[in-house]
Amino acid sequence: MHEPTMSLTGFLRRVLSYLRPYRLQTLLILLGIVVDLVFDTVFRLSFKFLIDDALTQGNYRLMVFILAALAVGVVVASLVSVGRDYLYARLGTSVLNDLRFRTFQHLQRLSAGFYSRAQTGDIMARFTTDLSSVENALVLALPAGLISLLGVVVVAVPLFFLEWHLALLAVLGLPICLIGPKLLEARASSAGYSFKEEQARLSSTVQENVSAQAVIKAFSLQQSAVDQFRHQIASLFRIGVRSNFLSYLMERTPNIASLVLELLVVGAGAFLAYKGTISVGALVSFYVLFVSISQSIYGISWVVPYMVQAAAGLQRIEELLDEVPQVADAPGAVPLPRLREGLAFRGVSFGYAPDHPVLQDVELEIPQGLAVAFVGPSGSGKSTVLNLVMRFYDPTAGVVAFDGCDLRQATQESLRAQLGVVFQDNFLFNIPIGENIRLGRQDATDEEVQQAARAAEIHDFIQSLPEGYGTPAGERGGRFSGGQRQRIALARAILRDPSILVLDEATSALDPSTEAAINATLERLAKGRTTIAVTHRLSTVVNMDRIYVLKQGRVVEQGTHKELLNLKGTYHEMWQEFALTMTQDALVGDLDQEEADLTADEEIDSTRLSQRLGELQEEVHRQTQEIQRLQTINQRWAHLAGTDRLTGLPNKLAFLQAMMPQEVLQVQRRGDPIGFLLISGDSLGLINESHGRDAGDQVLGELARFLQTILKGEELLGHLDGTNFAVALHPATRDRACERGEVLRSQVEGHGFPCAGTQVHLTISVGATSVDSTAITDPREAVEEVFRQLNQALYQAKRSGGNRVEII
Ligand code: ADP
Repeated sequence: MHEPTMSLTGFLRRVLSYLRPYRLQTLLILLGIVVDLVFDTVFRLSFKFLIDDALTQGNYRLMVFILAALAVGVVVASLVSVGRDYLYARLGTSVLNDLRFRTFQHLQRLSAGFYSRAQTGDIMARFTTDLSSVENALVLALPAGLISLLGVVVVAVPLFFLEWHLALLAVLGLPICLIGPKLLEARASSAGYSFKEEQARLSSTVQENVSAQAVIKAFSLQQSAVDQFRHQIASLFRIGVRSNFLSYLMERTPNIASLVLELLVVGAGAFLAYKGTISVGALVSFYVLFVSISQSIYGISWVVPYMVQAAAGLQRIEELLDEVPQVADAPGAVPLPRLREGLAFRGVSFGYAPDHPVLQDVELEIPQGLAVAFVGPSGSGKSTVLNLVMRFYDPTAGVVAFDGCDLRQATQESLRAQLGVVFQDNFLFNIPIGENIRLGRQDATDEEVQQAARAAEIHDFIQSLPEGYGTPAGERGGRFSGGQRQRIALARAILRDPSILVLDEATSALDPSTEAAINATLERLAKGRTTIAVTHRLSTVVNMDRIYVLKQGRVVEQGTHKELLNLKGTYHEMWQEFALTMTQDALVGDLDQEEADLTADEEIDSTRLSQRLGELQEEVHRQTQEIQRLQTINQRWAHLAGTDRLTGLPNKLAFLQAMMPQEVLQVQRRGDPIGFLLISGDSLGLINESHGRDAGDQVLGELARFLQTILKGEELLGHLDGTNFAVALHPATRDRACERGEVLRSQVEGHGFPCAGTQVHLTISVGATSVDSTAITDPREAVEEVFRQLNQALYQAKRSGGNRVEII
């Protein structure tokens, strides 16, 4: 929290600087005030002449003249003050709008770092409560204060003309009235600032609470939210009472002082009139003028609390304006031409906070036209890499280079113009869909917008909506399904014709079939562009040209999917874990799919919408409960049934029903042939008989482990049943499958397996085949069929003595 530093004089100095562009208007307003005050003083002074020279002397003509002159004065002064009010209304609004505009413009310049720290509610409070306190001061208090201040000066002069002793007493007494506010000012402004801070905190809480209602309801956090809120308003109460009371005191103390002074002046005046030193007319005039000064003093003191509040508000606004954008164009920054060679990180280190490094000494290349992915555990720095590529932040050490040019030497505008970014959750504004897409490039024609939508394969859907491209997106795009929102965001990105496509978990929140469909679109659109993707869904990265594996902010592995699997390191581990998750997902996948179909195909028809929505919600709720129930069962079950007890490998169900169909779908996308091997130990039955069941189990386990070590990372191994193992490999023709089968056979033959304290030798029989993946329509059925056939081939091999590869 900042300390309040803006005093009243500081506030006035700021306001004066805001008035600088409006010099003429300000001058005219001041002139208007002086005219008003002079007339007011003359009016009050006229009592002396009216009483002493006209009424007491019986001078009728003088009386009429004075009254007529006053009547003219009233008309002139009224006209002047109406004109002044109009000018002031314009001036006040202009100054406030300037401030609003400057603040908003500044918010656009501030970097990502600021927004990750800032609280929305707090920024909103600066725009609402803080700005309105400045508005109150500027529109109400400042003109009143100015009139009062000038009033004291203008009215004090004729007092001396009437009776200088009395005037001296009055004028010397006046400063006493200002002692109270002066003494209280510092404390009041500090309290005012704290009050504003507390109010902003409260609006942040409310704002967060409204956004988080789903979580609050789901976790029954209502009561604790209410308790926290009660605690906060109790604190607001303490601070508010102190701040308001100090404000009132600042207003009250000069009032009390001026009342005492008034009593003194009237007493002394009456005494002088009694002695005949001044005339009755002069005393009346003096009193009326002095009342005007008192009112002015009251006016000033009334104004002060507003000013104190406004100073606190203005300070908070100025704090926002003083916030320096961390990322700004360097002087002489050059525009970047379209990417030709590629991006590179050279010794890049970065941390959001100085003592918490997030990326450390990262070296990497992203050649133009290639698709590169960043994978790694959550928090390893993947999104941070993207933040640096997009120059949301600058590295603390090293260089992010664009065709060899340090991004810090380039204009942000020219970099961002080349980026098409798709986030996991893309913000759709509540404006027509067409306009949402056009945000990608504001000067795009309708035709170009539609072309982009066609490329993103969302055109037909948009056309089918009642209002077509004019259909509003709803708050945050709430009228569309996740997949539809991603496609709209994709169209938006494509409209820019970006040289670099940035995908930040772009398909991670989608169900598997929507994800696969959008990935297919993405692959098509990425041709000829450089793609940089961050994802934790490894299914997305298998076809990428290069994958960087991040771990605790360092690049630990890099290569293609196959190369990384063969390293059998971090990526291999992640892939195995991912395959297991896929297995679990696949087991409940059908239900997910039904739910997706239900929402995706639904047309937006406003008349039927609410009724259908109700039905859908009920259906989704029912299905969600069913999925949760199954998932709970599945989580326990996957450990027992998903992997084989002896070998730790995926079992038959997991392998044939879940992993294989996923694998086939992947291979289909590239149109490769996929090879399958069925492996069976030849003499395991004998080992069981001669060494006992436990020894047999031990050898089986060893065989599984051995197969795993000699298989390549991308070759999937499962334990079907008994001594039968299955392998899938791709791309693999029959020859390739046969060749791999032969390698496995000979390696096993030459290996000694530990068994009950000795070593035994085993042989295996292998059935091998290959299938054209594009001809497969139902992956599960096809895979089952392949293994049925391989089983027969294996039977043949065993009948011929075993230890051979039978190809079909
Ligand atoms: P990933 O994308 O791999 O999950 P991130 O790049 O988002 O990882 O985050 C890396 C680390 O940086 C994490 O420890 C995270 O808490 C931290 N971090 C990310 N964004 C910010 C931020 N805006 N301010 C402070 N720390 C952050």
